[in-house]
Amino acid sequence: MTRAVLTLNAGSSSLKVALFPETGDQPLAVGLADRIGPDGVLKLKDATGAPLAASGDLTSHAGAIAAVIDSFRAQWPDLELLAIGHRVVHGGADNTRPVTVDDAVLTDLERLSPFAPLHQPHNLAGIRAAMAAFPGVPQVACFDTAFHRTNPKVSDSFALPRALYDDGVRRYGFHGLSYDYIAGELARRAPHLAEGRVIVAHLGNGASMCALQAGRSMASTMGFTALDGLPMGTRCGQVDPGVLLYLMDQKGMTAAEITDLLYRQSGLLGLSGLSNDMRTLEAAGTPEAAEAIDYFVFRCQREVGSLAAALGGIDALIFCGGIGENSRLIRARICERLGWMGIDIDPARNAANDAVISTDQARTTVMVIATNEELVIARAARAALGLARNVAE
Ligand code: AMP
Repeated sequence: MTRAVLTLNAGSSSLKVALFPETGDQPLAVGLADRIGPDGVLKLKDATGAPLAASGDLTSHAGAIAAVIDSFRAQWPDLELLAIGHRVVHGGADNTRPVTVDDAVLTDLERLSPFAPLHQPHNLAGIRAAMAAFPGVPQVACFDTAFHRTNPKVSDSFALPRALYDDGVRRYGFHGLSYDYIAGELARRAPHLAEGRVIVAHLGNGASMCALQAGRSMASTMGFTALDGLPMGTRCGQVDPGVLLYLMDQKGMTAAEITDLLYRQSGLLGLSGLSNDMRTLEAAGTPEAAEAIDYFVFRCQREVGSLAAALGGIDALIFCGGIGENSRLIRARICERLGWMGIDIDPARNAANDAVISTDQARTTVMVIATNEELVIARAARAALGLARNVAE
């Protein structure tokens, strides 16, 4: 019998999947259903990287989940799904850890959809589709916000009238599954650092930073939504709210138009007029691409400074996410103006993408750790079953 847990990460038109064995960190298979709709494509591969045959109705998330399972069943005819773990962007103010989903929980999570209208409905649609397809299998929701619920009140509020805080207008923070993984991995690799003041820079198409004190989130750059903080592929990052008032009052833009502007037309794409993709910008060589990179780097430097102030100092800076894990240029550029906080990276180590890229003399350790949100979800799904005997070797 192949006993396994499935992880699902449902976006607006995509579904990222991974199949993990009952124990162990290596997935049996990973894959992505992309452009769900009339042009949907599904790519799955096994642990060796060999493609798995995959086809089916990719016009909906439910169809994509069925296609994924059909493919896995063809590969492992004795497959028994023990649990399904789901990434859910918003857990609200009260969910501090993963929860097993039933109808009441689902109703509760639906109430949070207005806080994350572009993500939450898709995440919940994925859960609903999985519940219908596998009625007896526990469904576990893992929240991007949960990790930040340790933030002190100064970190999770805005200077708005108090009643709005009680209405849920707070800084929730996101990318929590990634930070959870990095905190655990740091504790395994460098326990003395994990006990200290650490800034994690999750730099990918979505980008944020988190300040950790002894492994607990104290502050992060994302706020009420995943728009705040650093500039991202197509999201604006920090912007003066007065700009939005101007766009509404003077430019007559609707909420839907502003949403599109802030989420899809801004960030690296908006600044460069070329691409949301850092690799493309690094290769482009145009003044606009260079300006977009300069802005990204500058904002990263400012946020490291801000989070270090929130922590009262810094012992380690950790890069993760597609840009953080791969871009030597961006890491070097961010670090080059942070010498005043004891950051000094070794160019050879950075070029080699070493796990530790700071010099031996540097006061602050700089590391690169590949994040693994899927594993965090799989562990949560196992834990919900009382199977939490997976310990990273
Ligand atoms: P993610 O959302 O974490 O998958 O990260 C996607 C981002 O990582 C995109 O902007 C990619 O261009 C960027 N990225 C991936 N590999 C590299 C690389 N070798 N150099 C620069 N950027 C990279």
